[in-house]
Amino acid sequence: MAQSIPAKSPGAEIIVYNPATTEEIGRAPLTMPEEVARAVGRAREARAAWAARSFHERGAVIMQARKIILNELDEIAALVSRETGKPSPEAIAMELAPALDLMQYFARKTATLLRPRRISVGLYWTMGRSSYEIYKPQGVIGIISPWNFPWATPLAEVVMALMAGNTVVLKPSELTPLTALKINEVLTRAGLPENVFQVVTGDGSTGAALVASGVDKILFTGSVTTGRRVAEAAAKYLIPVVLELGGKDAMIVLDDANIVNAARGALWGAFANCGQSCASVERCYVHESIAGQFIAEVVKETKRLRQSTGADNTADLGPMSSERQLSVVERHVNQALNHGAVALTGGERLRDVAGPFYPPTVLTNVTHEMDVMREETFGPVLPIMTFKTDDEAIRLANDSDFGLTASVWTNNIGRGQQLARQIDAGTVTINEVLYTHAIAQTPWGGTKQSGLGRTHGQAGLMELVRPQHVHVNRLQMIPDLWWFNYDEGAGQLFRGFARRFASGSLFQASLLLPQMVRRWRTPRN
Ligand code: NAD
Repeated sequence: MAQSIPAKSPGAEIIVYNPATTEEIGRAPLTMPEEVARAVGRAREARAAWAARSFHERGAVIMQARKIILNELDEIAALVSRETGKPSPEAIAMELAPALDLMQYFARKTATLLRPRRISVGLYWTMGRSSYEIYKPQGVIGIISPWNFPWATPLAEVVMALMAGNTVVLKPSELTPLTALKINEVLTRAGLPENVFQVVTGDGSTGAALVASGVDKILFTGSVTTGRRVAEAAAKYLIPVVLELGGKDAMIVLDDANIVNAARGALWGAFANCGQSCASVERCYVHESIAGQFIAEVVKETKRLRQSTGADNTADLGPMSSERQLSVVERHVNQALNHGAVALTGGERLRDVAGPFYPPTVLTNVTHEMDVMREETFGPVLPIMTFKTDDEAIRLANDSDFGLTASVWTNNIGRGQQLARQIDAGTVTINEVLYTHAIAQTPWGGTKQSGLGRTHGQAGLMELVRPQHVHVNRLQMIPDLWWFNYDEGAGQLFRGFARRFASGSLFQASLLLPQMVRRWRTPRN
């Protein structure tokens, strides 16, 4: 059953269903635009006091929240599982554990990562100048998130934003509001002051209201179509956005790869979270000399996967999260099959179950003319093509509107790194797949239509602060040589600046000293 969005009126609720069983599991308010604006107003008022707290004090709240999460690990995983359909153990591995790691990292390290940074000013130091940069909070951060990782994706961004001294208003997906409300509950119980973090549950209109509400920055994660809408709306208010959008991530298996391990990597990369990860393996290119063995291994392992409602905690895959997403998968697979592709496993939705179950599907005989190789499928589908040369593999991988992640599989790490540099993607992994979103220290983000800006790592933290450059002149009694007035001597000196000072050479610049002293001594006329 699809999530039910009622008519928009104050007091309206979103009814949330478990996609595996289609049973109602809870309700959340459908927040009206006026209430979104009020929440942002409250966040703005809470800003100064939160920003005034030390990194240590902010980190203590995050570490307390971490303790609560650890105590309630299984209960939270069960909630995420009920709301998305993913198996509980996978929720722990892919959502809770990475978020716990990120929490301890940023709770402990943000102070160091945001330490004021001295900037070298080249030869201006000879004139007593120095520069440094400090990092101030942006203010109120609006976070809009999707349903596929409803715990890890928003929580990571919330923690980083809070540690950087911001207040936050989160608008979670309408498919997964209960998980976001749990994040709010945990942070409140951990002692976060009132209004420093708020959740506004609702649909796209609530998200649009958040963009229009006067926040200082938006972190958006979701589809390209919505991302574009958010960027357009943000442009109207001249607020910056980080866009984490879709992917069509390529996996390249070279002729010297470990075939068995690459096949298992392909399986997990394509089918974990039922293929609903922005960094899922969405297309696989295997060297023709090993294609037969590789595909046989992939098919053998795919047939061993268990797909169920996950009630007994032994499922590898659950249902997809919504009928809407399943219909995209059906469209891509059916179009491919109608144009000559072959389904070696799966290929059709499961019909004897209530929820949107689609089986893991391995496709061969696919081409770059098919949607399944060009558009984001976001489901348990692994289309496989062969290639003859490394150059052809790179050309195929780069023949895409997306550039989130890609992977190269080889026993020769040097060759893998050389190929990685030629792939146009935000992250390229060698003999690895999908998981680097879990690493708090590394940047996350895409090129091309996969988005703008970064989350996670130092680069992600920098998105959450306003760098301020402070420049100091210690020779405060001496006027600058380039100030008024301009006379013939000044003209000559400026030519000297262009030729010698701007060369960056201390020796060359020193040759200007006599002219400089003359200008200092010349009285203004
Ligand atoms: P979506 O774009 O439909 O929705 C994302 C969020 O935007 C939801 O909270 C939704 O309510 C909100 N929204 C909808 N219309 C809006 C508007 N006009 N203004 C503001 N907010 C609005 O995406 P989805 O289906 O929830 O998520 C799946 C997509 O997310 C996939 O494309 C996937 O690749 C992408 N994704 C990307 C990353 C990444 O890090 N790059 C991570 C996870 C998911």
